[in-house]
Parts: sequence; structure tokens; C-alpha cells
Amino acid sequence: MDIDNKDITNSNFLNEDINEFSLRPTLLKEFIGQTKLKENLNIFIQATKKRKEPLDHILFYGPPGLGKTTLSNIIAKEMDASIKSTTGPVLERIGDLAAILTDLSEGDILFIDEIHRMNHVVEETLYSVMEDFKLDIIIGQGPSAKNIKLDIEKFTLIGATTRAGLLTSPLRDRFGIMNHLDFYDVKDIVIIIKRSASILNIEVTDDGAFEIASRSRGTPRIANRLLKRIRDFADVRNEGIIDKEIAIKGAEMMEIDNLGLDKVDRQILFAMIENYNGGPIGIETLAIITNEETDTITDVCEPFLIKEGLLIRTSRGRVVTDKAYKHLNLKKKNNSFVGGDDDLFK
Ligand code: ADP
Repeated sequence: MDIDNKDITNSNFLNEDINEFSLRPTLLKEFIGQTKLKENLNIFIQATKKRKEPLDHILFYGPPGLGKTTLSNIIAKEMDASIKSTTGPVLERIGDLAAILTDLSEGDILFIDEIHRMNHVVEETLYSVMEDFKLDIIIGQGPSAKNIKLDIEKFTLIGATTRAGLLTSPLRDRFGIMNHLDFYDVKDIVIIIKRSASILNIEVTDDGAFEIASRSRGTPRIANRLLKRIRDFADVRNEGIIDKEIAIKGAEMMEIDNLGLDKVDRQILFAMIENYNGGPIGIETLAIITNEETDTITDVCEPFLIKEGLLIRTSRGRVVTDKAYKHLNLKKKNNSFVGGDDDLFK
């Protein structure tokens, strides 16, 4: 069977996730995990509905694939509002923003994904819109240029970003509600896998779901992706049933180990140990020695390695922990290492 392992555990949206829309929960009660966040959102939604006002602007931040887009659509549905979606990099000019804003009706939701990647002139224009729903634009050029203020309907802006720290503080301060999405517990991912399996008509045993969940890096998008890939494996090897053995074998074929680390993660840890005696090492150097984009390392790999206690961030740079040496079955020895990664998959 031809399995392309590249990016299998990259939590960014990939082409193969195109049918993930069918797996998206549409109501708050169907959204699994993130209990505190759901409770808070539910209160905000009920209170504003009661007052018949639009919701305050909301910011969701956290690694890719944890449900920021899903939640934004759920909020629209729960508020009986229309949602218009765009992304930061698409809003290149003020005209792009103006076209979207002037098309909004009262109570609508405007979702801007990757809001940290907006052009800074567009971003500054957004400040007064978020504050008092007035759009300042300049029409014409040179001496005949005119500054006009357009009234915009009272809408709710929902922004999503991988890291709140990437936002300028004036933009961040204009969000009334800030929500951090964290990695999910294995038990929540098990529920997500079972839900997706039933939608996709996949037979998965309890321990099969557990094995997939524990390799999903606490990320629903990866859980769904692994479920679909392992289903292919099960179709060929096990009459379509995903049990513990098939789940482990499928993950092994995709080179995902028992902690959910893929080739890139292991390469990062290996490279740090091999070339820099475990660190400290700066992010730019790490990107160069692993041949990965800095953003992929900071948004996708690093948060998970830190969460698993395999890497720590210090003021002098990233440092590999003892747990990483142990996981890779390497020993610290006279500024070098010995060992190998024989048994990472079981
Ligand atoms: P983000 O916007 O944070 O990158 P998405 O909202 O696109 O993430 O979520 C990725 C996929 O993961 C969705 O299609 C959805 O199927 C699934 N998903 C995310 N969060 C949940 C959840 N809490 N419960 C069930 N499925 C989820």
C-alpha cells in the first residue's frame, strides 16, 4: 500500500483534510472537550441573545487543528447569525476589507483566520471598526483625496491565530473575549474518534480508538486524519475493522511513534542532541539544521514537544530534556550520545 507519510502529523489544514467539513460539530453540545471554554461561551451567547445585542469580538488562539474555525461556525449557528469567513493574508488592501465590511448586516459574524498575518495598514483600519463600527477610508489621490467615514452594521469579529503573542497589542486589546484552545486529553480524542468513525461508517474497537488517540498529539484534526489513513490499512489487512493491533501497525507504517512523534519531531530532537549536545539552540538554527520552516517548528512541532516534556524553552534557547534522551533511547555521554531508537512504536 502506498502511504505518503509526509506531514501526516502536521496539524495545519492539508488537502487531504478537505472532507473534514462533514466531521465538524455544528452545535456547542456536539463540540467535545474544552469544557471551561464551552461553558463561558454558552453564557456569553445566552446573555447577548437575551439582551438582543451582537456578541463582543472574540479571539481564539492555540495550535492548528484544535477547533478554532469549528467553534466560530458553532457560535454563528447558536446566535442564528450569518458568518462570512476570510483569512488575514487575503486582506491585502483596505479595499478588500471595505468590500467585506460594507456587505455585513447587523449581528453577522466575520471570521478572520490567521488574523496575525493581516497587512498592518488594514489592521490599523480595523481598530476603529471594531471599536465604534466606523470605517475610515481615503477616496481619491493627491490634493483631491477625501477622507470619509462609513457606518458599518454592528457585527461580531471572530479572529483566530496560532499564538496570541503574534498580535499587536492594539488589536489584541480590542477583543472583548479571548479564548485559549489547549491540546485535548486522550479521553476526549477517543470520543472524537468514535464520533467521526460513526459518521464515516468505520468500525473501531475501544482499544483501537485509544491507540489512535494516544498518537494524535491531542489534536482533533490529526485524530481524524489518522483514523482515515488507518481505515485504509484496516480495509486491506483486517476486513475494515480497526483494533489495537491494526492501529499500532498502521501508525508504525506512518512512522508515528507511541507518543505521537513523527519523523520531523524526532529529527528535531536528534539534530539538537547530535549537533548541539541537547541545546540551548535558537529557533532559526533549529529551522536550518532540520530544513523546516520556522513557523512549522514554532506552531506545530514545538508546542507539542514542550507539552510532552521533551523540550523546554529557556532564555538562552531550546533545550532537550532527559525525557527526550530516554524516549529516543539515547544516553548523554561525554558531550556526545550513544544508542538508537529501536522500540519507539510499541
Ligand atoms: P482550527 O481552526 O483550530 O485549525 P478546526 O476548527 O478546523 O481547527 O478543526 C479541525 C477539525 O477537527 C474539524 O474539522 C473538526 O472535525 C475537528 N474538531 C475540532 N475540534 C473538535 C471537537 N472539539 N470535537 C469534535 N471535532 C473537533
